[in-house]
Amino acid sequence: MKKTCPIIAAERSYKIEKEKFIPVSEYYGEDTFNIKVMKLKLPGDTYKKIIDAYHEGTILDITTANIVAHAMKEWAIEKGATHFAHWFQPMTGITAEKHDAFIDLVGVSDVLERFSGKQLVQGEPDASSFPSGGIRATFEARGYTAWDMSSPAFIRRNGISTTLCIPTAFISYNGEALDKKTPLLRSNRVVSRSALNMMNLLGNTAVKGVYATLGPEQEYFLIDADYFYKRQDLVLGGRTVVGAPPAKGQELEDQYFGSIKERIASYMHDMEEELFKLGVPAKTRHNEVAPSQYELAPVFEEANLAIDHNQIVMDTMQLVAKKHKLACLLHEKPFAGINGSGKHLNWSMSDNKGNNLLNPGQTPQDNIQFLVFLIAVTRAVYKHADILRASVGSYANDHRLGANEAPPAIISVFLGDQLTKILEDIESGKITKATDREIINLGISSLPIVSKDNTDRNRTSPFAFTGNKFEFRAVGSAQSISFPATVLNTIVAESLDYLAEKIKARCGKDTSINQCVLTVLKKELKEIKSVLFNGDNYTEEWEKEAARRGLPNDKTTPMAIKALVTKKALDLFEKYKVLSNVELRSRYLIRVEKYIKDLAIEVKCLNNIAMSQIIPAATSYQKVLSKAIIGAREALGKTADLSAQQELLKRVTELMNKIYGTNKDILDRVETVASVHDEQKKAEILCAEVKTKMNELRGYVDELEGLVDDELWPLPKFWEMLFIN
Ligand code: ADP
Ligand code: MG
Repeated sequence: MKKTCPIIAAERSYKIEKEKFIPVSEYYGEDTFNIKVMKLKLPGDTYKKIIDAYHEGTILDITTANIVAHAMKEWAIEKGATHFAHWFQPMTGITAEKHDAFIDLVGVSDVLERFSGKQLVQGEPDASSFPSGGIRATFEARGYTAWDMSSPAFIRRNGISTTLCIPTAFISYNGEALDKKTPLLRSNRVVSRSALNMMNLLGNTAVKGVYATLGPEQEYFLIDADYFYKRQDLVLGGRTVVGAPPAKGQELEDQYFGSIKERIASYMHDMEEELFKLGVPAKTRHNEVAPSQYELAPVFEEANLAIDHNQIVMDTMQLVAKKHKLACLLHEKPFAGINGSGKHLNWSMSDNKGNNLLNPGQTPQDNIQFLVFLIAVTRAVYKHADILRASVGSYANDHRLGANEAPPAIISVFLGDQLTKILEDIESGKITKATDREIINLGISSLPIVSKDNTDRNRTSPFAFTGNKFEFRAVGSAQSISFPATVLNTIVAESLDYLAEKIKARCGKDTSINQCVLTVLKKELKEIKSVLFNGDNYTEEWEKEAARRGLPNDKTTPMAIKALVTKKALDLFEKYKVLSNVELRSRYLIRVEKYIKDLAIEVKCLNNIAMSQIIPAATSYQKVLSKAIIGAREALGKTADLSAQQELLKRVTELMNKIYGTNKDILDRVETVASVHDEQKKAEILCAEVKTKMNELRGYVDELEGLVDDELWPLPKFWEMLFIN
């Protein structure tokens, strides 16, 4: 392959237009129709109505909606918008938008810009081409989008096109959720209610509301766009299906937190500027472990907003990359043998005064509350580790999970030594009295300072307590965090309710509410402690230990996602009205189908690459070698030692045969599986048989890559893609 020179600053297609630099605080959120803008643009009573509707979750009356729509349109047009779009999150995991121009015909030859309250509040996109997992029969293709007032409308700029995007939920005509936002919003309500009940029970009655908070750390790769477009596997599937690891990978550990290259820093600046305009609090950026891998972490926000913002982050990363002639790879494992990308989902709860409920407090009372919430989350993971695992299951994420760089499929909880010791003391009965003195003796009053330092060290845990929040690390980099968050909210709500019932049942039996709490926690800890693990999650010993403890360990997605349709899961989501049985089953089905489709796309890419790129390159090299052998023999005589060329030719030929044969074998197997009607079975067979064969084929291609003349090799190699930028 001809090497491409990295684009140097002067040659770049983009220009650094801003000569004057404006502080972020001056333009932060300028492209969002946020509370501040509404206050400015709306009449006082309309503004009040919209704030009330938002807080009380009520529907806006049409007159108010008309006033808001008008102000929003005027604002958007000032920003250059010609169209509006209901922006939603179908079950594909990405976002969808259908643009409508603001124009309305006046007479026959004139138009006016118009946008009504009805258009703002509700849309009717044709739902038939979105996955519904069987919810919506094709004859009833209609679905509707409903404005989500809790997430501000925003301006989407793409090239010279400018669109007003209105965050919406996407629902079928029977009210079933066709998207990821609806169940998330339901789960937010559920966890708020349960948390508030618990706080009230514990005597904290001053609190009026609780909400879940999320901070998703987004990992990604950047490579030169020129290489990207030379690889159909990257363009079509997001991952290289062939390619040998480079001579230098990440072993020198010189990339993590290393100084950021100029081209990348410019990209980050540009990308973050877009995010700031959209009110996304992009806070931290750094080089990640693998070459050409980076991370962006935002300041945490209320869950629904954080999720919308993460979708915007993923979109913006890719859009801005194009401008810089880069390609942003969000795939969980773009390069075999090189660390993959995850998305650490930091999760906690805040009360309406902004107090973090997973922050150990200063007073014994705070600490009791902290312990209850900590144990409720731990119990939730213990009870529903299988559902959490299923929530992050995908064909792509399987390449990463458990590959000695990412948490294993076993979902355990890391609490750190200090907290573990406290829980052990409670469980063993060392702490018997819930007097202030003893609670202080628990040692938690000194937690805030120590734990931050202490708990963050274990990077191998899939679910770690990191001082004041839990970090769910098994989420894939390309995945929407909506469903994992929905699951977390729901299972924590259930555990809070369960503990509340137990505590209430003890009322009257113990001397104080704190004593009731301690008695209940002591008993519960006995059961749930098997989910706690502070050691190295990457080791084989842990796998054996986890099996002894009876923790689930479903390594592949086809096995793991069955957890979504167990009676336990169906009952739980139905009970909390987060997902009806039909809705949950549909999500399961979509995942199975997506697994099969993702694998099928890779099989086709691999076939195309093997047959139309690799074999022809190998044939050319075979020709070169054969000619060389014949020529050298003529020139040097029969006795000449040509063993090097001969052995090379022999191995190249063998590998070509192996590639051809294995590829055919893969295609045959795929064809046989096509007749299996049960999708679950199909996915299982493809996973067990075809995936292994694809790896085998990759092995042959990668060996060939090291033998064939570099000039003849048709694909950009890992070292080029990962080190030239
Ligand atoms: P680290 O990088 O060591 O994991 P940070 O403190 O930098 O830890 O936080 C990482 C992510 O966690 C950030 O996105 C941050 O906003 C988020 N986070 C911090 N506190 C909370 C919280 N209470 N709820 C949800 N996310 C949080
Ligand atoms: Mg982190």
